[in-house]
Amino acid sequence: MSEEQTCQRCGETVELSQEDFELFERMHPECFHFAFEHDLNKPGLSETEDCGDPACPSA
Ligand SMILES: [Zn+2]
Ligand SMILES: [Zn+2]
Repeated sequence: MSEEQTCQRCGETVELSQEDFELFERMHPECFHFAFEHDLNKPGLSETEDCGDPACPSA
């Protein structure tokens, strides 16, 4: 049996290998981005705006 992996940020199920899930601090890659990377350069940046990171889900 595999335990369900739940995102620490949005609460949705995360379909990643356990290794990748741990790598992203138990979040979706995009939730990890918003939590730790998205507003690094522009503090307070809205999640709907592109932060300039090529990996940004809002780009
Ligand atoms: Zn999430
Ligand atoms: Zn971003």
